Parts: sequence; C-alpha cells; structure tokens
Amino acid sequence: MKKSISVSTVIFTLITLLLAAALVFSLIFIKRKNDSIERIKAEVAANESSISSANDTISALESDIAGKDRTGSEFKAQLEAEQAEKKKLEDENAALKKQIETLSAKKKAEEEARKLAASAQAGNPDGRRVCYLTFDDGPSDNTLKILDILHRYGIKATFFVINTDKLEYIKNINDEGHSVGLHSCSHNYEAIYSNTDAYFADLQTISDRVRDILGYESKIIRFPGGSSNKVSGKYCQGIMSKLTGMVAEKGYSYFDWNVSSGDANSNTPSFTYIRNNVLNSARDKNSICVLMHDTSAKTTTVQALPEIIEGLMKMGYSFDRIVPETYGYHHRVNN
Ligand SMILES: [Zn+2]
Repeated sequence: MKKSISVSTVIFTLITLLLAAALVFSLIFIKRKNDSIERIKAEVAANESSISSANDTISALESDIAGKDRTGSEFKAQLEAEQAEKKKLEDENAALKKQIETLSAKKKAEEEARKLAASAQAGNPDGRRVCYLTFDDGPSDNTLKILDILHRYGIKATFFVINTDKLEYIKNINDEGHSVGLHSCSHNYEAIYSNTDAYFADLQTISDRVRDILGYESKIIRFPGGSSNKVSGKYCQGIMSKLTGMVAEKGYSYFDWNVSSGDANSNTPSFTYIRNNVLNSARDKNSICVLMHDTSAKTTTVQALPEIIEGLMKMGYSFDRIVPETYGYHHRVNN
C-alpha cells in the first residue's frame, strides 16, 4: 500500500511538475512576445524619428534648393540682359559695317565711272565711235533715275517725250544738258496716222506744251513706231512717205534708231536681255542711236543702263545728244 501511494505521489508530482513547466514556458513565451512588440515599436519609433529627421533635412534641402534657384534665376535674368545687350551691339555693328560696304561700293562705282568716262573722252580707238542714247515715251517716274545715271557718267542723251503727267521733268532733262525731242502728244496711232493734218495738229500740241515749259521750240522728232512702221497703213495708206518729207519742210529733223534695246518687246524684260541687245548690236557698228523707253514700267531699262554705258565705253564709244544737225538714222519707209 505504501508503495502504491508512493507511485501515485510520483505520478502526481510528475504531473504537477509538467503543469508547472507548461506554465513557466507559457509565461516565457508571452514575455517573449511582449518583448518582440516592444522591440518593433522601438524600431518604429526609431524609424519615425529618422523619418522626422529626414523630413527636416528634406525641408532644409528644399529651402536650400529654393534659395539656390532664386539665385540662379537672378543670374539667368542678368545673363539674358547681358546677352540682349551684346546682340544689340552686334546688330548695330553689322548695320554699320553694311553702311560702310554700301558707301565703299558706291564710291568705287563712281570712281570706275569717272575713269571710264575719262578714258572714253581721251580718245576712241578708231576715233569715230559715237553713241546717241534715246529714251521714248517719257517723262515718267524713272526719268530722274535715268538723269542720275547719265550724270554719274558725265554723258548726254536725248528724250523724245509725249504728253505725260510728268511732263514738267523736261525742265530737269533740259537743265542737265540733254536734248528734249518731240515724240507725239497722244501716241495714239489711229489718231495721229489717220491723215497728215491730224499728225501735225498732234505734233503742234506737244510742241507748244514743251515750249511753254522750256521757253523754246524743239525741232527734233521721232515718229511713234519709227518712220518704218507699217501699222500706220491700217489708218492711212502711204502716210509715212508723206510725213517724212513734210516734217523736213516744216523745219523738223526726225530720228529713228539702229540699235534697239528690246525693252518694249514685253512689259518689263530682264535687264540682262536689254543690256545684251544693246551691247551685241553695238559691236559691229561705229555710230549708234539706241532706242530705249522711259516709262514707269521700264525699271529694268534703268537697271541695265549703267552696264550698257560701261559696256559701250569699253568698246570705245563716246556719247552725245541729238541736235537738229545730227545725222538722221533713218529707217527705210514701209508705208
Ligand atoms: Zn513711243
């Protein structure tokens, strides 16, 4: 019996010990669990502290960056202002340099023109080459430009005028020593070539207007279309044959041409076309009367004129104006 109690006691004791051990383990486990939360909480707290610290740093950096940006944009504005000023100065310099170039080119052209004029005056190779430049159908918006060019080369020319709204320019033409000739008042073929009376009535009208402005009568004329024109035949058969004789009886000298610039072949031909027509046609002659036109549309005639003059000078031509005694450059009459 004693042994049985002893076994029971042992078993009880063992159970008790086991329970106690289980309790201890449970307590340890709970404690450990609590330890882990605390530790994480501590880590969170530590992290939060770090985050807060990082936020502070970021704020500080952002503030720093903002400060730097402000400084940067101030520098940028200053830089832009400097660049703008530099560009302005560069532009001014470029404009000034261009002015210098233009003036130098003008001066050079004038010197060249003077030299050419001097060499042409000094003596032609064959001593005979002479050129009469003539301008029909003006005066116009281009008259003063033509006069400027002629003045630049120191040469004289002839203007066969009609009754334009710029007729007062014949005073400039005359004052600069050029000849003013009569072309017609109306330049209307049908009207002037219908009969000889109509022709002379028209001629008298332009003659009177010119006399009123210049104080003298011009005695040099050019028929519209030239004395060789066939279009007059549409209005009056044989009228050119009559007129060419009659004008001489009335004290006029008429002039055709032997070099055509072709500037009337279209409204505004290229200046190279006009220049080449004149220079190519002048090459095999010694005495030329050049037909050109002074109307507002003939801008390329004005453009070609300096090269025409220089080209002719290089061929040895000298220039003169037509006077009543000048040889007539008459075409063959076709009507
Ligand atoms: Zn004409």
